[in-house]
Amino acid sequence: MEGKVALVTGAAGGIGAAIAGELCRRGVSVAAVDCDEDRLAHTVEKLTADGLRAEAFSVDLVGRTQVDSAVAEVEDRLGPLDFLVNCAGVLRTGDVTDLTDQDWDATFAVNATGVFLMSRAVVSRMVPRRRGAIVTVASNAAGTARTQMAAYAASKAAATVFTKCLGLEVARYGIRCNVVAPGSTDTPMLVGMGVDGEAERASIIDGIPEHYKAGIPLRKLALPSDVADAFVFLLSDHASHITLHSLTVDGGATLG
Ligand code: NAD
Repeated sequence: MEGKVALVTGAAGGIGAAIAGELCRRGVSVAAVDCDEDRLAHTVEKLTADGLRAEAFSVDLVGRTQVDSAVAEVEDRLGPLDFLVNCAGVLRTGDVTDLTDQDWDATFAVNATGVFLMSRAVVSRMVPRRRGAIVTVASNAAGTARTQMAAYAASKAAATVFTKCLGLEVARYGIRCNVVAPGSTDTPMLVGMGVDGEAERASIIDGIPEHYKAGIPLRKLALPSDVADAFVFLLSDHASHITLHSLTVDGGATLG
């Protein structure tokens, strides 16, 4: 991966920062994209302090006008993109009767439309070069019914199918498009769901009827690095014949 260039969205978040770090440590120049400027600056400072190549790009994926110009600026500053990681995401939970229009729209704006906008902007630059790899984060919720997750799970299912359709269109150019579907991962997003203490963590690992029926057979929440390893694998030449695939990283929670 030495010398490659990657754009990682959600790079200020738990999983995105771990992916950015893993790529940087393999010699990749990383454009770290997020709308949370403070956390993004902190993430990039930590990477560059270690002598790694990363630059911060403050972008709100919901602002349709920002995405194309941000990708152009990334390529001007870091060079042609080899990799795209779609990792930005938001989570709004609630029974369908409690979800507002705004919850639904905000969820789809980032988790589905954001993936479309960023992928379109990047892949149109990859096609003439006939190389590239894209990995989108979804969720194990995309394929498993759960209470209170309807908007989130539907948006992740949309991102999954979108990424596979894109992969089919660009396979002829040697561009691979895959998905990573994590289960419960120890990041600020989980804390935002109220999973903050040992008791809440244990209830996810043990399984709560109707929420996480099976619990987590491997008996732990994923670390961001567990999920990042799957991204690095799918971007790398070790996955050179893998495309249109969704790789679940959930400790067995969805029972295969
Ligand atoms: P996180 O909240 O730590 O990170 C998400 C990042 O996305 C944040 O830095 C946030 O600022 C950024 N973001 C949100 N809206 C944005 C926008 N409009 N423009 C640009 N950036 C935006 O959460 P995380 O756990 O690291 O999640 C990363 C991804 O993994 C998300 O897509 C999430 O849905 C998915 N995921 C997380 C879990 C989990 O248990 N943590 C499980 C499955 C999937």
